[in-house]
Amino acid sequence: METEKLYYADPFLTDFTATVLDCQPGKNGYLVTLDRTAFYPEGGGQPADHGVLDGAAVTDVHEKNGVILHNVDRAVEIGKTVTGAIDWERRFDHMQQHSGEHICSGLICERFHCDNVGFHMGADIVTIDFNADISWEELLEIEAKANQYLYENHPIDIQFHRGAELEAIDYRSKKALEGDVRIVAFPGADCCACCGTHVLRSGQVG
Ligand SMILES: [Zn+2]
Repeated sequence: METEKLYYADPFLTDFTATVLDCQPGKNGYLVTLDRTAFYPEGGGQPADHGVLDGAAVTDVHEKNGVILHNVDRAVEIGKTVTGAIDWERRFDHMQQHSGEHICSGLICERFHCDNVGFHMGADIVTIDFNADISWEELLEIEAKANQYLYENHPIDIQFHRGAELEAIDYRSKKALEGDVRIVAFPGADCCACCGTHVLRSGQVG
């Protein structure tokens, strides 16, 4: 059964309750699956959430075929209703960096007719790769535009689209996609297929 992904319904949800469906010994502690979760798994260039689940430390989170696997440091009881709390400081930082990356990438790709061909969110810096030559002066112009976009505090629109509806949208993507595709739109700056968590308004990028 696919895990209900609470971080899509509300990316600002920090605490939740869920039922433990499975708990198995893993490489580092235990692997736990829940019926629903607010823990974001590593994906789309965004690192996994950390936090606490029923008193156990959550050290990593992965997704496999729609099922979210939580790495925890001790076993939790199968069938039990547990509470989870995500490390919000870490997650909000990821949401800010990730959303900021969209705005910069959208502006750069539109201006230089190029593609974002790589994205890595590290502990201290974010790197983005483009298949174009961009001068430092041009990049400073992009920086000013991106900052202006933050000051204007635009709302961000995230919706699932498919079929003809999806084909009608001009969005960035690294690969051809089908089925329900999650389109993250920063109106006037970017439109991109993305599975990550984002802020609600551009001003929250800070
Ligand atoms: Zn994204």
